[in-house]
Amino acid sequence: MLSVGINGYGTIGKRVADAVRTQPDMTVAGVVKTSPDHVAALADDRGFSLYVPTKDYRGEFRAAGMDPAGTLEDLLDASDIVVDATPGGVGQSYVPKYREAGIPYILQGAEPAKAAAASFCAGANGPSCVDEGSLRVVSCNTTGLARTLATLGEVAPVDRVDVTLVRRGGDPTQTDRGPINDILPTTDVPSHHAEDLRTVLPDVSIHTVAMTVPTTLMHVHGVTVTFESTPDERAIREQLAGADRLALVPGDRDLDAISALIEVGRDMGRPRGDIWETCLWEDSIDVRDRRLSFIQAVHQESIVVPETIDAIRTLAGEDPIESAEWTNEHLGVGQLRFGSRERTTPVTAE
Ligand code: NAD
Repeated sequence: MLSVGINGYGTIGKRVADAVRTQPDMTVAGVVKTSPDHVAALADDRGFSLYVPTKDYRGEFRAAGMDPAGTLEDLLDASDIVVDATPGGVGQSYVPKYREAGIPYILQGAEPAKAAAASFCAGANGPSCVDEGSLRVVSCNTTGLARTLATLGEVAPVDRVDVTLVRRGGDPTQTDRGPINDILPTTDVPSHHAEDLRTVLPDVSIHTVAMTVPTTLMHVHGVTVTFESTPDERAIREQLAGADRLALVPGDRDLDAISALIEVGRDMGRPRGDIWETCLWEDSIDVRDRRLSFIQAVHQESIVVPETIDAIRTLAGEDPIESAEWTNEHLGVGQLRFGSRERTTPVTAE
């Protein structure tokens, strides 16, 4: 049984903690919180042992009626692996502590790639990461793109990829983020996503442009993949339909907005309504000569959770591809049900 410590219990940390619990081969050693707020109370209610970064935080927690089990150092002692889910940029400052404790660590995508031995997305570069002592799970946008591009790369050789990213302004609880009534172009072109994608798919020639819009629900990507020769459209549709971490959104169910996708997650009773799959609108798939275009959506709060679970097993020396199957099975990834009157994706009879 792998004992997993989680440093940072916010949007990502709390989801990773719950996901670890769904896996039969791992357990949560504890979670680190910096303030005794309602989220710390939630961790406590869920039976996760609460830790604080240093002894200095103990007084504030005790005054709020919470008794921390110890400090980060104690948690590292009690864990086999630590998942860092502190805010972007903070994670790298903990790396010396993790190294000193001699514990394998996982960082999230906002940390610099060089802060971990390798960047990771199981389906893209998982097998090359097995002997590493630290991994960085690439960001939500990069994970969404890496999943689709790795899947398409199995159909036919890809010449180049062009992506327009429409990014959500902030997460639902980030009241200090925006814009409220605006569209913010990212004038650094290509946006950083191209370079990040190449940390897990180094051979892909990709160009990205990005903008930020007033929504908290999901990111949306307009993607054009140019293959080296005209691809077989049927093979593309079958490959996409068969990938567990991609969900094809049918055109006949009024699912023509990200709000409708989020509602499906809620109606299915998923934890927090999470959509772990990259959602690709089936009707947007368009093949002309060598070019395939489509539009996909990424639920930024949850998409990296399955890959973080895969990363835990990979650091423990397990096969990342087999691990992904376990993660899917026990978390329920690949079971989004949109329901379709008519299956537009052809299914090959074996
Ligand atoms: P968050 O702000 O929701 O949560 C961060 C948690 O870390 C909070 O509980 C905060 O109290 C705690 N914290 C703050 N300073 C700390 C410190 N010094 N030591 C220990 N804990 C500390 O952030 P998040 O959205 O969960 O993001 C975490 C990481 O995941 C970031 O690297 C982010 O880029 C990445 N990520 C976020 C998203 C997303 O959309 N939210 C998606 C993918 C990846």
